Amino acid sequence: MRICVFSGSSFGRSETYRNAAVSLGRTISRKGLGLVYGGASVGLMGAVADAALNEGGEVIGVLPRKLANQEVGHRGLTRLHLVDSIHERKAMMADLSDGFAVLPGGIGTLEEAFEVWTWSQLGFHSKSVGLLNVDGFFDGLNGFLDSLVTEHFLKSVHREILLCESSPEMLIDKLTTTRVPVAPKWIGMPEAR
Ligand code: AMP
Repeated sequence: MRICVFSGSSFGRSETYRNAAVSLGRTISRKGLGLVYGGASVGLMGAVADAALNEGGEVIGVLPRKLANQEVGHRGLTRLHLVDSIHERKAMMADLSDGFAVLPGGIGTLEEAFEVWTWSQLGFHSKSVGLLNVDGFFDGLNGFLDSLVTEHFLKSVHREILLCESSPEMLIDKLTTTRVPVAPKWIGMPEAR
């Protein structure tokens, strides 16, 4: 079983983010799971990969050729796939993985997380997605996402697909055991009433 990790290509302001990335990478390997990620050696992406490798785990990176210089492809991975586009990267990362963990990061991280969550919502896959809420990093986002339910743009059953835990251990346990519910996405259509 493999877990895909989305995370910042920067370290962020606080050392806590780097510590959380190391802890998540270590936890994934210690549980005998493989890690799939964006293949970079920079920022939290590099930190999570190094931590998993140090524990002897399998780490697979998927990096677009065009970004291989900016994000500095990691040279010590079990496997590094160089692909032609960011779309190919995301599709391959998703295909290779059984669940998705999201560390703090920027808009690239958020985009990747939202995409796989929407794929679950639409039934294109049934893999779990979960935020690692380091020091309340995702509290503001969670509040906004709850408002989508209140405003009838998102069903609670789909809101609940996006897990959130503050400990890497708990997050990985949930990602590997939670079944993603299958429910029609559309709100207000005749068949969904
Ligand atoms: P960031 O969170 O912005 O530091 O980006 C983290 C990772 O997401 C990096 O590997 C970026 O290459 C990747 N990324 C950035 N923009 C996108 C995008 N539009 N779609 C998918 N991945 C992206």
